[in-house]
Amino acid sequence: MRRPVLAANWKMNHGPSEARAFVRQFLERYAARPDRTIIFFPPALSLTTLADALRNRADLELGIQNIWMEDKGPYTGETSAPMSRDAGARYALVGHSERRHVFGESDAEVAKKMAAAVRNGLTPILCVGEKLTERESGVTNDVVLRQLRVGIAALDREAIAGIAIAYEPVWAIGTGRNATPDDAAAVHGILRGALAQDGDRESAASIPILYGGRVNPANARGLLSASGVDVPLVGGASLDAETWSLICATSNT
Ligand code: PEP
Repeated sequence: MRRPVLAANWKMNHGPSEARAFVRQFLERYAARPDRTIIFFPPALSLTTLADALRNRADLELGIQNIWMEDKGPYTGETSAPMSRDAGARYALVGHSERRHVFGESDAEVAKKMAAAVRNGLTPILCVGEKLTERESGVTNDVVLRQLRVGIAALDREAIAGIAIAYEPVWAIGTGRNATPDDAAAVHGILRGALAQDGDRESAASIPILYGGRVNPANARGLLSASGVDVPLVGGASLDAETWSLICATSNT
């Protein structure tokens, strides 16, 4: 049984002061539930603030939104996996669509970042997803399978068994368009099928596959009930403590 994980990607929002205020409001609204893990991905500058504010809540974890592929050195402006871990992160988003499409990150760079995360004890969440033009031209499966296969190419079987994947159709991220539970279920099935085909069936069944793209309190239950969709990765709707606490309390049963 895969344990539900709900992930909040704050993107470039909530610096240290806002993060502290958010946590105060969130903790008043959300009591720990033993059946799920919540992960916050704040901006790197807010990691230690959150680590401090959440230290008494084992159900609330931290991740880094992006890491560099080397562990240290002359990479001005970058954040390494070891320093993210030192600041409290246990997870890393890798290959988010904004990294790929705004910052031009390639599949090969994504693969190196996956390896850097694993090497440093961070659980990577590999983000994959097609653009609208790719969906319309019928190549969704090719795109997500390429992103998946190249993304895990540098990892051995044991490491692959410890990762998570997020399917985030680019056309549904931060836009007014929503994927239906059936759209999400179809791609999740393709991804899990590929993991089983390329690796071993048992670990393929245990890898969490998240869904992201305009998840909100109104559609969270429907998406979580879709076949094979474990958990949401949420951007915009995770920025407000009240809204995020409602999503965190959503049940798919
Ligand atoms: C995201 O950026 O990972 C995301 C899913 O954003 P939103 O929920 O705002 O679509």
